[in-house]
Amino acid sequence: MPRGRYAPSPTGALHLGNARTALVAWWQARSRGGSFTLRVEDLDEARTVSEAVQGNLDELRWLGIDWDEGPDVGGPHESYRQSERLDLYHQALERLEASGHLFECYLSRKDLRELASAPHGSFPVYGEPERRANERLAQAKRAGGKDPSVRFRVPDVTVEFSDLLMGAKRFDVRKEVGDFVVRRADNVLAYQLAVVVDDIAMGITEVVRGDDLLTSTAAQLLLYRALDVDPPEYAHVPLLLDETGRRMAKRKGSLTLSALVANGVRPERVVGLLAYSLGVTSVLEERSAEECLDHYELARLRQEPVSLTPAELAWLTGES
Ligand code: GLU
Repeated sequence: MPRGRYAPSPTGALHLGNARTALVAWWQARSRGGSFTLRVEDLDEARTVSEAVQGNLDELRWLGIDWDEGPDVGGPHESYRQSERLDLYHQALERLEASGHLFECYLSRKDLRELASAPHGSFPVYGEPERRANERLAQAKRAGGKDPSVRFRVPDVTVEFSDLLMGAKRFDVRKEVGDFVVRRADNVLAYQLAVVVDDIAMGITEVVRGDDLLTSTAAQLLLYRALDVDPPEYAHVPLLLDETGRRMAKRKGSLTLSALVANGVRPERVVGLLAYSLGVTSVLEERSAEECLDHYELARLRQEPVSLTPAELAWLTGES
């Protein structure tokens, strides 16, 4: 039986782009009789907005999405909040450490920026020059009391996978991502590690998420390999762009579900618009998430990013 999931980071109210990905994840699992898990990715305390934890659950329910396992309904893989699963991540770190996949990095953000020959102020992809600089400086920095971050040593291999939606994908993770952080210097565990550990522990068989995470997926596939576990299948959904062609972001206050709820917009309007923007339906009309299950087929989803038109936005808010 397929096991799908949606894993919001509660850094604010969900926007239309988040809702769209959540709907695809739910349709993908439910249309084939699969189960659905809701996991809250609240590892980074500084970015977590406490009201958004419950808020995101309420917003998803309002849309018509339900789950069999989650923070509010429980389940066999509790806890469904990453902040309460730290032991599992530390165990995985120990395994990766024991198999020689990790190293301590003493370089500061400033060091990294200075090492970047590329555009001013940007961070380099962590590769050979950074590894060498780290080896050169580690001892002095350790003596000076600097806490290291822990990075995954990316091997020189090509990662290939077949995305359910986007087809064959191929990445040179050393060139595109570099040695990535699995535990920050302030001890916060990284998304890349936690998401892999949790998807394994929760028995997730398919991961549906935004295509902004494609290179992250390539990095995560290396973690699966290092942990000697078969990865789930992936479907990366092209992002929804706002009317100016930019990707939606919570911090920009892009159309959030809570704002739409407050303005009296019906969930069927939101779902109808998103289903239409995805190619799930061919007519722009009100639909419930449940009704769309009959129309949903992954292979028919649009594969390019979509911008909402002013006319569609006006329809959404009932101005037309
Ligand atoms: N928590 C991540 C986010 O909200 C999603 C992670 C994932 O789906 O793998 O962007």
